[in-house]
Amino acid sequence: MAENPYKDLLKTIQATEKAKTVGEQFVADLNRSIQLGKKEHTPSKSVKPSSLGGCFREQWLILQGVERDVGVLEKAEDITIQQSGNDRHNRLQYACQDAKNYGVDIIWCDPEEEARRAYAQGIKTIIKRRDGNELLCWNEDYESSFKCDGIIIYKGLKYILEIKTEEYGKFNCRVSPEIKHEFQAGMYSLCFGIDRVMFLYEDRNLTFRKGYEVIVTDTYKNAVKERIAHILAYRDKNKIPPKEKTKCTYCKYKQTCKKLGDTFVLSYEELIALPMPVVEEVKQDGK
Ligand code: SF4
Repeated sequence: MAENPYKDLLKTIQATEKAKTVGEQFVADLNRSIQLGKKEHTPSKSVKPSSLGGCFREQWLILQGVERDVGVLEKAEDITIQQSGNDRHNRLQYACQDAKNYGVDIIWCDPEEEARRAYAQGIKTIIKRRDGNELLCWNEDYESSFKCDGIIIYKGLKYILEIKTEEYGKFNCRVSPEIKHEFQAGMYSLCFGIDRVMFLYEDRNLTFRKGYEVIVTDTYKNAVKERIAHILAYRDKNKIPPKEKTKCTYCKYKQTCKKLGDTFVLSYEELIALPMPVVEEVKQDGK
């Protein structure tokens, strides 16, 4: 059955209608404005380090350039949490940049210079866009586009900085970086030729912070390379990866995923052994 693109909008209007006080109506209307103002974009057809530890099918859909779910309005609270996450990233990045002015041993490196250094070593990473502290990077070797939070030198050692904000309960229990975040660290390490990653986790509630140094070993880098090669093999052989239902919570491809139905796991070796799919030639008259 086709999705109704107005279903979510109707729900937000009903929320205002159901509100009992003017204050509640105001909040419901404000939430609708936040939801409607959210700009959605289709991510570029590339490997995303943040999805590397996630669902293969989701990453495959990104590589296909499939549009995200239509008619689904994100919750207003989810949008504003993302906004405060972005604000916190910025402030923490500025704090790192400022540190040397107070004699604190943190040096902020110029990421473009770092990308040039990596390029000279044969790593094909470039900075595609720079917007304030936000850097959009592209790596040709792994067909990957990603955002880098920064590169720092701390106590004489160079680190890729990765900032994460998270809710208090999760933060409180945290004793190490999340496994899926470590995949991200491995990818950044490959893309900049820097083996140290400094994870900075911040509690969204009281802004307490925890830092973890991760040293990316060759074994780990190889595991990341294998994962990327596996995803790209699914794409090249035009095979749809199976669903990974434990990873669906924040996925924005639920409608397309449902339509694709269930598929089977194929190992990298099985995919490589398959013939290349035939690409139909498009004739001049379009037939
Ligand atoms: S809905 Fe779930 S199984 Fe489907 S692509 Fe998204 S994360 Fe994967």
